[in-house]
Amino acid sequence: MTVRYRAAAGLAVLALAAPSSAAASPDRTPDTASAPAARAGAAARAAQAAQADEAARADEGAVRVLAISVDALNPTALQRLGHEGAPNLWRLVDEGAATLNARAQYELTITLPNHTSMVTGRRVAKRAGGHGVTWNDERPRSTVHRAAGERVRSVFSKIQAAGGSSALFSTKTKFRTFTRSWPRAIDRTVIRVGDDDALVRAARADLVGHDRALTFVHLGVADAAGHAHGFMSPDYLRAVEHADSLVGTLLSAIDTEPTLDRVVVVLTADHGGVGRDHSQVTQLGDYRIPFVVWGPGIEHGDLYEMNPTYVNPGRSRPRPVGPQPVRNSDLANLVTTLLGLGPVPGSQFDVRQRLRVGPGAG
Ligand SMILES: [Zn+2]
Ligand SMILES: [Zn+2]
Repeated sequence: MTVRYRAAAGLAVLALAAPSSAAASPDRTPDTASAPAARAGAAARAAQAAQADEAARADEGAVRVLAISVDALNPTALQRLGHEGAPNLWRLVDEGAATLNARAQYELTITLPNHTSMVTGRRVAKRAGGHGVTWNDERPRSTVHRAAGERVRSVFSKIQAAGGSSALFSTKTKFRTFTRSWPRAIDRTVIRVGDDDALVRAARADLVGHDRALTFVHLGVADAAGHAHGFMSPDYLRAVEHADSLVGTLLSAIDTEPTLDRVVVVLTADHGGVGRDHSQVTQLGDYRIPFVVWGPGIEHGDLYEMNPTYVNPGRSRPRPVGPQPVRNSDLANLVTTLLGLGPVPGSQFDVRQRLRVGPGAG
């Protein structure tokens, strides 16, 4: 209980700091207004002070974040498997702040664009200030900056600027795009193609052995089974059970290692899946995903009930302007909020860091 109290107090401090963060336009499109020159000096000093403040808070190590993306986790699979088939995923939902009705990106429901949105907090469409990553394979010379036509910041670079460490674990080689884009910010990258078990062993050891601010783990087993046998097929459901057990491996580390008592888990997916595919952006089964936050200082509840500024989309597919549903791209600024940092520069989702997940945060 002391752990929960301590973390909740930390979040309360963050909530007090939140209003000073950069203002965003109400529709969460990029803030393009430029400050008058006369105020530039004061703004620079304020930015410097904010950065020092962020670094101090990052140093305190109030919270660490384990972000887990279960590739192609259709929330219907959780309903179908129930608590017996997916005890670990349900544990996160039952104890954490969660919704099984979050949304993937509006423009594309494929892997690399959606993960790029998760780590940058941006939408996909380059012309609308998005990251511009529209491809979905490993292209050895590609970077997010080149796709966007500008230098793009990420949750990794934000953490690096505050003196924190990040690690990336993935089952797909295209995730090297992130390491190429933010080589100094991602301190360790582990890719184990098609071997989720080995990947999670490595991630668990790293989590225990290193005091990182962010550990990002991407599990591919459910996506692979969905493409091979059909999403929601018995093989796919077995693969989700497998992913659930791997999440359990990470949770058991958190349960048993005293050094991991301040780890908050953020679990989501890049997209769902229907039939043998998940690229139909207008299909509910492709764009509906889970979004779950769990750990010390996190309140149990439905994210939409806890966040009246977010709109439960029902079965609809809201555009990425105006009132928003919870999206996988909220991950970036939820992570910065949990770590006591300001928003990722250039991000478009939850720029005001208002997604409330705990008693003190919002
Ligand atoms: Zn995917
Ligand atoms: Zn896929």
